[in-house]
Amino acid sequence: MSTSLIYHGFGIRGYRYINTKYKGGEILFTIRQDPLELCCPVCGSKDIICRGQVKRQFRSLPIGKKRVWICLQIQRIFCLVCHVLRQVKVGFADKRRTYTRSFERYALELSRHMTIRDVANHLDVSWDVIKDIQKRNLQKRYKRPKLKKLKQIAIDEITIGKGHRYLTIVLDLKTGMVVFVGDGKGSEALEPFWKRLKHSKANITAIAMDMSSAYINAVIENLKEAAIVFDHFHVIKLFNEKLSDFRRKLYREAITALQKRVLKGTRWLLLKRPDNLDESRNEPQRLKEAMELNQPLAIAYYMKEDLRQLWSQKDKSSAETFLNDWISQAKSSKISMLVKFAQTLAAHRTGILSYYDYPISTGPLERTNNKIKTMKRQAYGFRDMEFFKLKIMAIHETKYALVG
Ligand SMILES: [Zn+2]
Repeated sequence: MSTSLIYHGFGIRGYRYINTKYKGGEILFTIRQDPLELCCPVCGSKDIICRGQVKRQFRSLPIGKKRVWICLQIQRIFCLVCHVLRQVKVGFADKRRTYTRSFERYALELSRHMTIRDVANHLDVSWDVIKDIQKRNLQKRYKRPKLKKLKQIAIDEITIGKGHRYLTIVLDLKTGMVVFVGDGKGSEALEPFWKRLKHSKANITAIAMDMSSAYINAVIENLKEAAIVFDHFHVIKLFNEKLSDFRRKLYREAITALQKRVLKGTRWLLLKRPDNLDESRNEPQRLKEAMELNQPLAIAYYMKEDLRQLWSQKDKSSAETFLNDWISQAKSSKISMLVKFAQTLAAHRTGILSYYDYPISTGPLERTNNKIKTMKRQAYGFRDMEFFKLKIMAIHETKYALVG
């Protein structure tokens, strides 16, 4: 071992190698700082008086499976400029840490491929040490994400844990990165985001969200110039929910045994796209029977298939005509489910048609949510919410989230 190996192999610069000891399967390197290098850690003055030493050990990169410690007598000095007694700075480790920076970098490198538990086991340190290393690294990179270039975003909430806790997620649709994680759901959750956004002077042009979003008013208030785009998948999903309710109501009201039998088990068929119906399981036939017996159900079903076309019109004005036709058809059907849905669409028409100005959706956010769910399922829990939120901010870096 030598001073230059300590530098090249373990990233420790400005210290002289003294000796190596082997104790209980561990390797201990003792190093020393050149007395001429000593200075006040605050003002940098060399006008100092040495006042004793403090012995410390730092975990460093392992050699094979053996733990390696760097041992150092840290000089205490009295600064004649500051008139304060202090310990000199340790050049190779962060304040209050018991491991070197190269150890930290190695743990982060391993964290890209392994769970916290794996890295902790491999390096023979506690789970908390690795978590702490990851957390401080994430804080450095994600505590204050740059918002200046934000143009199009998606906003939605996710549930966490079993206690119906919520987080609000804002996603940059251009980069696919989470730019904000707020506590709870609804407009309050976004307050810190608006503040940062104002500060960043970003110019947001469009926001994707779903029609039932609790954020609509907050967005209108804080982003007066931006267009709200209601996610088209959510519109169809909402229609499907109403259609299921409607079928259930018809089933309850069905009088004859035949009507009941035919309606039974059609729920999934009604939600499927016609081209996805399974011929071998007789699905097209069963759906047809149900609809022949029940005209309102048939109308509602065809109206849904029709509504899908709203998002494949050639331009915004054709889409507007299409939407108006759909709404008036639905109203004239006198079927309460359709009449109500037509009212919902009419109330949200601007945001629905905005799709033709900004063809965005909350789809990317949905995919991010699925990754977050994978992360939640890992043996992690929510002991440290700040860490969990930072993990969400970094979730685009992982193909699947390693946490446990
Ligand atoms: Zn000083």
